[in-house]
Amino acid sequence: MSVFVIVPAAGSGSRFGGDIPKQFLALAGKPILQHVVERFVVDGEVSRIIVPIAEALVTSVKPMPRVQFVAGGATRQQSVSRGLDAAREDDGDVVAVHDAVRPFFSPEVFHAVVAAAREHGAAFPALPVSDTIHVVDGDRVVMTPDRRFLVGAQTPQCFRVDVLRDVLARAAREGDDASDEAGLAAKYGFDVRAVPGDSLNFKITRPEDLVMAERVIAEWGNVSS
Ligand code: C5P
Repeated sequence: MSVFVIVPAAGSGSRFGGDIPKQFLALAGKPILQHVVERFVVDGEVSRIIVPIAEALVTSVKPMPRVQFVAGGATRQQSVSRGLDAAREDDGDVVAVHDAVRPFFSPEVFHAVVAAAREHGAAFPALPVSDTIHVVDGDRVVMTPDRRFLVGAQTPQCFRVDVLRDVLARAAREGDDASDEAGLAAKYGFDVRAVPGDSLNFKITRPEDLVMAERVIAEWGNVSS
């Protein structure tokens, strides 16, 4: 039984302020997205990596073995759906959805999440939160949840293929558009498990994160090869 991966990368947004979407920014000489894809390519459990990207780019990307670029949709969730539509019957029983800007996920955590998804239906890597989290309305605090019950959701988030299909179909029917499929699955009553993640698997969203990522590679080598 194997796993296939969807890496939604069709967004045009850049919180860096420039014109280049953050997944295409260079990290140690190559796009962040390439680090992510190469890390999955070397994983023996992964059958295929499906990468939804902007439609205009599909014909211009360099083909790579076991990697398929497809046209993304209008939202992240629609891009994930397009990726799932491109999957074949024999791609695997579990599908992983991974952020295009998390190049440092560990194979050990990934495999633990896959195993939990295979057993329960859905799972994701979770990190305890170190900050206190407040719910605010404007600048006014309306609630402070107990931190012991909060975790940060990382990726790869993994699902049995039938579960993710059900979740995305229901979200499309009900008009739900979420930034996280595990949250949708939990909302619809599926069993979703939190597996211990690790802090190195951070998301490169701000300029200082890119500086940090360069430092990680300088210290520990290119952990994606
Ligand atoms: O913009 P945001 O950070 O929420 O995007 C999260 C991820 O979803 C990014 O990797 C982005 O490329 C992807 N995305 C997508 N299709 C869209 C919008 C975002 O694949 N239409």
